[in-house]
Amino acid sequence: PLVNTFEKKFAKMIGTKYSVAVNSGTAALHLSLLCNDFLKGKKVLVPSITFSATAASVLYCDLKPKFVDVREEDLTIDFQDLKKKYSKDCVAVICVHMGGHPAQMEKIRPWAKKKNLLLIEDSAESCGASYKGKKIGRWSDISCFSFEEKKIITTGDGGMICLNDKKKYEKIKSLSFHGWNIDPWKRHKKSFGRKNKFTKHWAYEIKNLGYKYNMNDYMAAMGLAQLKKINIFNKKRQNILRRYLYGIKKLKNIKPTFPYYLPRSSYWLFSVKTKYRDDLIDYLKSKNISTAVHFVPLPLNSIYKKYSNKGLKNTFKIWKQIISLPFYPDLENKKIDYIVKCLKNFDQKLNFNK
Ligand SMILES: *Cc1c(COP(=O)(O)O)cnc(C)c1O
Repeated sequence: PLVNTFEKKFAKMIGTKYSVAVNSGTAALHLSLLCNDFLKGKKVLVPSITFSATAASVLYCDLKPKFVDVREEDLTIDFQDLKKKYSKDCVAVICVHMGGHPAQMEKIRPWAKKKNLLLIEDSAESCGASYKGKKIGRWSDISCFSFEEKKIITTGDGGMICLNDKKKYEKIKSLSFHGWNIDPWKRHKKSFGRKNKFTKHWAYEIKNLGYKYNMNDYMAAMGLAQLKKINIFNKKRQNILRRYLYGIKKLKNIKPTFPYYLPRSSYWLFSVKTKYRDDLIDYLKSKNISTAVHFVPLPLNSIYKKYSNKGLKNTFKIWKQIISLPFYPDLENKKIDYIVKCLKNFDQKLNFNK
């Protein structure tokens, strides 16, 4: 029952007719492609800098990823390159709101429609944000969220698929639970009440080769509690970003990776770029500050090498400069100020050495 409630509340928050709760964001991406019955070997346009599951979901469905360059100014899919990489055998495009920064949906959506491409939002790094007056998750045919432990809200692990198409919703619901044709909870509810005494609540039919991807009530209980806090989480993230950005404003060699447009935002990363990336990582390590690189371009990984990695100029330049810094709602001002102080020291030493 809680899964059903969580699905309804989440769909209402995003503003789609339907949503299906699953046990990971990866499962959400897999099913959002699988429900379309695309022919084997067709191509899906995917940004070259993203979490690996974005492209893995394409391979799970016997489709081929086609990597598209990202924009230097915000790491989201580059619309000019998207148009260039498009060919007749493309069936879908997956846009990623990288680090919580919205992709240019206002350009991509009308174009994808004209080309008859399925448009998927990988919203795993964003939750509760609006872009140009419309909720993230409503800009596409199917939108996928992640509730993995580090994401904006969490259910331990978990994910959600949001959409308006009833047929695809029913297919996804079935595929998420062993391919059965009726939701078990709804089926069993039918056995209660005098009127329904003789319904065969136990009967189901296996229509599809489905998966064990459903969310359970433990996760949904946590999701419902987290959903109430989503605005607080995003507000806290905005305040932390404001403090970080003010602190590093005057630095010469370290700049923010994203433009950080804060109103109604849901940023998941605080990322900076510098030409001295690896030196800065070492320096911060010596100061006990953890860092990460989100992400190494997918075409640089051996499994994805065989898919085209041509025309990814921005990707191969920008990825060498990006560093993610500590960023979570409970990060204290004291710690932010310490991190900023270390960034300033590094920047000043560079100026001095030059
Ligand atoms: C986290 C993430 C996923 C996968 O979500 P899981 O819940 O970990 O399976 C997919 N895409 C992006 C962009 C992500 O950041």
